[in-house]
Amino acid sequence: MQGKILIVDAISTNRIVLKVKLASAFYEIMQASSGEEAFALATWHDPDLVICAMELPDCDAADLCARLHANSRTSAVPMMVIGTRPNSAARLRALSAGVLDVMHKPLDDTLLLARVRSLIRAHNTAAEWQLRDDTSRALGFAEEMADFGPPGETVIVSTEQDSAREWIGELQPLLRSTIALTAPDRALRDLNPEKVPDVFVLALSSSEHHSGDVLRLLAAIRATNSTRHAGILVLQTRIDAGLGAYALDLGADDLMTDGFDAAELALRVKAMMRRKRIADQLRATVRTGLQAAVSDPLTGLRNRRYAMPHLARVAEHARATGRSFAVMLADLDHFKQINDLYGHASGDAVLVETARRLCADLRPADLVARIGGEEFLIVMPSTTIAEARTAAGRLCQTIGADPFRVPATRDPIKVTVSIGLAIGGRADGAGLRGENGAEAILAAADKALYEAKSQGRNQVTLSRPAA
Ligand code: GH3
Ligand code: MG
Ligand code: MG
Repeated sequence: MQGKILIVDAISTNRIVLKVKLASAFYEIMQASSGEEAFALATWHDPDLVICAMELPDCDAADLCARLHANSRTSAVPMMVIGTRPNSAARLRALSAGVLDVMHKPLDDTLLLARVRSLIRAHNTAAEWQLRDDTSRALGFAEEMADFGPPGETVIVSTEQDSAREWIGELQPLLRSTIALTAPDRALRDLNPEKVPDVFVLALSSSEHHSGDVLRLLAAIRATNSTRHAGILVLQTRIDAGLGAYALDLGADDLMTDGFDAAELALRVKAMMRRKRIADQLRATVRTGLQAAVSDPLTGLRNRRYAMPHLARVAEHARATGRSFAVMLADLDHFKQINDLYGHASGDAVLVETARRLCADLRPADLVARIGGEEFLIVMPSTTIAEARTAAGRLCQTIGADPFRVPATRDPIKVTVSIGLAIGGRADGAGLRGENGAEAILAAADKALYEAKSQGRNQVTLSRPAA
């Protein structure tokens, strides 16, 4: 099944004609004949798209859209409207209410199906970012179409610069966004990486040669890392249903088939800005969530969940390159006493400062992770045994030599660390023979740490090769 579509129209023949067109593309179709019935079906069946007649017996499309978007269960459902020409107040009212497109009768089948595909695709992408219920509500998806947030950047891409300049003159008073003008061949070439547009308006001119350039640019915007999340609106200056359908299938988010109209373009650009802002925010939330999942909140260091696969990768790399690598387990000495004497907050301060000192003393490619209460794992790729010994000795010094400042007392306190060191990778005499896996080397470092502790602490012990 391609998706669930709810058709809302009081006239049954209209519903049936639309159903036949859509069912051939394997959509599951539901039907409603009034706004009330549509609302009930939508809250119950969670459609992927609502296609609605402009006028209904009990309300109009704009009312239904506002009602759906105000309800947490249906706040993210995309809606398009089938209307009649010419552009009317009803059309703008529907777009202002959050309707994503108004198509005109007679419907071109190819364009209709491309539009439906594009709306459902966008809806599914949003759903993948959990743009549903609570999240969408929390992020303001269901709020009025207010133009909040930073004004954003819009760029109009056109081969006909004079008419595009006139468009900008009409559009600018209606938008907070800054509007720039460029040509298809310069749009990506002249891109300022610091100031990537939020929305591209691609004017699809009547000339075949130029429309090819514009469609290639559309594909390139989608394929370019910095611009692939931008909104793309294709504005056709001449009616050509096939070309419009093609643009949607290439990844355009929105399409205006009837040429320039300042009020309508402004509404669509604003809606696209808003959707992009929400999507950007969701992506950032997911990124932050991933970051948090692999980090230790107290010290900011990576945690065990990150460190173990990293160690396995370093071990694998060492095997492939024939280079050795070093693994250290560093455990603070008598840390429990610090807590007992100065309190937990002072203990925390010692952990934070330990993390800082360890990181400051290592190379950027080395990993310092906090894998236990007062236990740190250090992984040093491409490191010889001599280098590792020197580094471990220095780390011991950097902790032990300068006393730590803690909140509980004015006098800095002495802190020391014990380090167990193991060498992995190429077996060069003192290294681990054959035992290069992450688990094995960690066990060896742990054993060495135990020796360092039992031999009096504040020292480095190198793992002995297995007998
Ligand atoms: P040893 O020299 O043998 O390593 O002795 P130790 O006292 O350092 O080791 P032990 O394992 O007995 O105690 C570790 C203490 O670390 C116990 C625990 O309460 C404390 N600890 C663990 N995590 C934290 C933390 O996040 N903050 C603070 N303040 N203390 C912690
Ligand atoms: Mg300890
Ligand atoms: Mg410990």
